[in-house]
Amino acid sequence: MLRRPGLSLTRELLRRNNLGFPLCYSKAKMSAVSKARRVEGVDKNIWVEFVKLAATYKTVNLGQGFPNFPPPDFVREAFVEAISEKDTLIHQYTRAFGHPPLVTIVAKFFGKLLGRELDPLSNVLVTVGAYEALFCCFQGLVDDGDEVIIIEPYFDCYEPMVKMAGGTPVFIPLRPKSAEGRTLTSSGDWQLDPEELEAKFTKRTKAIVLNSPNNPLGKVFSRKELELIAGLCVKHNILCFSDEVYEWLVYDGNKHVRIASLPGMWDRTVTIGSAGKTFSATGWKVGWALGPDDLLTHLRTVHQNSVYHCATAAQEAVARALQTEFQRMEKPESYLVQLPKELQQKRDRLVNCLSAVGMKPVIPEGTYFLIADISEFKAPVPDLQKSDEEPYDSRFVKWMIKNKGLAAIPVSAFYSTPQKKNFDRFIRFCFAKENATLDAAADILQQWSQMKPGQ
Ligand code: PMP
Ligand code: GLN
Repeated sequence: MLRRPGLSLTRELLRRNNLGFPLCYSKAKMSAVSKARRVEGVDKNIWVEFVKLAATYKTVNLGQGFPNFPPPDFVREAFVEAISEKDTLIHQYTRAFGHPPLVTIVAKFFGKLLGRELDPLSNVLVTVGAYEALFCCFQGLVDDGDEVIIIEPYFDCYEPMVKMAGGTPVFIPLRPKSAEGRTLTSSGDWQLDPEELEAKFTKRTKAIVLNSPNNPLGKVFSRKELELIAGLCVKHNILCFSDEVYEWLVYDGNKHVRIASLPGMWDRTVTIGSAGKTFSATGWKVGWALGPDDLLTHLRTVHQNSVYHCATAAQEAVARALQTEFQRMEKPESYLVQLPKELQQKRDRLVNCLSAVGMKPVIPEGTYFLIADISEFKAPVPDLQKSDEEPYDSRFVKWMIKNKGLAAIPVSAFYSTPQKKNFDRFIRFCFAKENATLDAAADILQQWSQMKPGQ
């Protein structure tokens, strides 16, 4: 677009509109533009809304999930080395389905973890973050009229992605057990009812989405829970899209079990991972899908006709970083061994601070999130205007961002519409933050909790 020198993009758009340019921003034109049905009802996005709010009000930001500490030196150096390469190929297009050095090491790395040999060319697809891997799963494998089972609470994009593929999401909640005298509950207390789960499998079910460790709850599904899900997948001949982006972030001796490694599951599972989460570099947007060739081939079709491939230098850097980690897998010096130890301390720091002010945390077994119950929070909160449209937790977080300068994410955003009102008393915090940031959040909460009503 040719822009007048000195004009911002917004002003330029306004100028063009005034001059009668046929822009879609023009009201007259808007009515003539009919959107595609696939974008109907999926236009709202929690991240777009709350990232903007957190930035507008200059908050202590425990909202969107990303570390505010740097990736480790060996990871940053891998990127610098990659882009410093004189080998021009690093700066050009690479293989569509994954840069050869990256698919090679991903196959080696996860082959070891899954206990099976992976073919780099047919069992690995490199994507623009785990987001694109998820999108390719739904677009490549879900058809009009297919049902996809989603476990609530769920990472928000599953629902719109299923709908955009023409599928129907079918929800099953994790139900919290009562605390039975304990002051603090754990994400492990949130469980599926096996009968309720089995009842969700119908003739139209195509797939189930599993997310362990789970965002936003932090639940790490136990082997027994995964065996239940796997058994149902096999019995009903269903696919499993297993989002394992937080696979390294497990605490208190919990173990991450890969559902694809359970009997009968490899052939029906797409396992999704993220270099962003693995190496604390969410902005790199490198992810992958692992699975059998006859499933991945359909993901490749979506990928080659949309994104084609992701940035070569970023893939090269991730390949180098994974190579380093492969050499020291499970050893104390491994970043993937050290990171959860550091994060567990941060989790406990936030748990203590929230408990002290009556925001009851549900202790997460994994991820870098925790959810906290705000219903007994010991601080004055004004009567937030009732709304049939907007759940209480969302109004609470917006008020907190604007008036207290502390950002979180309302947990109702991770629920389907009928359930939102039943889960509107929890808010999610991200604790992958420098201790100074966590302390700043603690100060805000403490001062707030010591205020008298009306202050
Ligand atoms: N799945 C889950 C559960 C997530 O929390 C996220 C958030 N980043 C993603 C997928 C997307 O990961 P990426 O940033 O690699 O696209
Ligand atoms: N996965 C991150 C979270 O849950 C970020 C998601 C996003 O920005 N779209 O906070």
